[in-house]
Amino acid sequence: MESSVSIVKCKDYGEEKVLSALRQAIDLIGGIQAFVNKGSRARLGALASRRSPLGEAEGSRGKPRVLLKPNLLYGKSPEKAVTTHPSVVRGMIQIVREAGGIPFIGDSPSVGGLMRTAEKAGIKAVADEMKCPLVEFNRPTLPSKVEGKIFKQLEVDQAVLDAEVVINLPKWKTHAQMVLTLGVKNLFGCVPGPRKPLWHLRAGESRKAFAQVLLDLYRVVQPSLTILDGVVGMEGNGPGSGDPIPLGLILASKNALSIDLVVCDLLGIPRKSIPTNQVALEDGLGGDSIEVLGESIEASKISSFKLPPPFAVTWNLPGFVRKALKNALTSKPWIDDQLCEDCERCAEICPAKALKKTGEGLAFDYGECIRCFCCQEVCSSGAISIKQGWALKLVSRRPKVESRRK
Ligand code: SF4
Ligand code: SF4
Repeated sequence: MESSVSIVKCKDYGEEKVLSALRQAIDLIGGIQAFVNKGSRARLGALASRRSPLGEAEGSRGKPRVLLKPNLLYGKSPEKAVTTHPSVVRGMIQIVREAGGIPFIGDSPSVGGLMRTAEKAGIKAVADEMKCPLVEFNRPTLPSKVEGKIFKQLEVDQAVLDAEVVINLPKWKTHAQMVLTLGVKNLFGCVPGPRKPLWHLRAGESRKAFAQVLLDLYRVVQPSLTILDGVVGMEGNGPGSGDPIPLGLILASKNALSIDLVVCDLLGIPRKSIPTNQVALEDGLGGDSIEVLGESIEASKISSFKLPPPFAVTWNLPGFVRKALKNALTSKPWIDDQLCEDCERCAEICPAKALKKTGEGLAFDYGECIRCFCCQEVCSSGAISIKQGWALKLVSRRPKVESRRK
């Protein structure tokens, strides 16, 4: 089945400009009423609990409860491009209300509580001003009748299941393990905080296995609409410590995977460069044609964008050789002591317990390390970066978009 993705240019985060770009992007794919309407209640209604974060009264009025799921990785000011910009969240609250929906904002930051994170990211001020509830994901639930392809069941937050409509609001950023975090990856935030490292551990060292977890989660959450904040994205050492880069784009689609595929086209990289795309395409998903509406790919191409370093050499080596040469063949996390603030968050989150405090500071056990890069993701001081093994360095050929923007 063909899906459509709209591309709209938006130069900066001026509130009126963003609101207008959001309206345009949504109108191009059918208008907000196609996503927020009374009928949408039936979609996840069977999974919803009787304990909505918005209360039964509002749900019973017949208005759909609409979860706005931004990227709230951790608390940084909007200019750092770590989180979805507050102007995008503000615009979506307005648009959802105009369509008769009851919006609420929900997420589960990797570091710190939701309120603190949202405050630093400028989203709490928007939520307070617009009287839009902020809901922290801390009620892990096993949805019934939904089975993952790799794992039998995936835990998500009850608030996600309580929403009749989920609107996914990812930020366009690089990601050490998944190359880019876009529409599909953003939904990992629907897994309550402390449960996230467990999924990394279960997926182990296989990037493909973790990508499959993300796709399974995408099937569980079923966002009705995805809007990608690519006005200013992040390149380099993402998703938490990369460099902001103006991209000037907002993308919208009812299909998050289609957005991820189109972003590869915009960057001029193969669609399979992103592990979630690769797994989806191998599973026969996302292979249909995508109709691009609004701006064309050609007119919106990003000429230079710094991707993370390659992850691993993909030679077909026997398992025991791969194990022996693991450090040479893969990228690994590395700490810059000058930048480290000794907060120990990285050690706390490490699912493999491969990072420990010793008498001489933090030390990695690279034999145990599963290369999930959770440590790098939660380091808000940018002290953890990615170092390539010598063999990987030798054979790495950087995609042409990896030159830095002048
Ligand atoms: S590397 Fe980063 S997360 Fe780890 S202790 Fe240092 S500052 Fe904290
Ligand atoms: S050290 Fe970092 S990359 Fe390695 S397993 Fe722990 S969190 Fe993941």
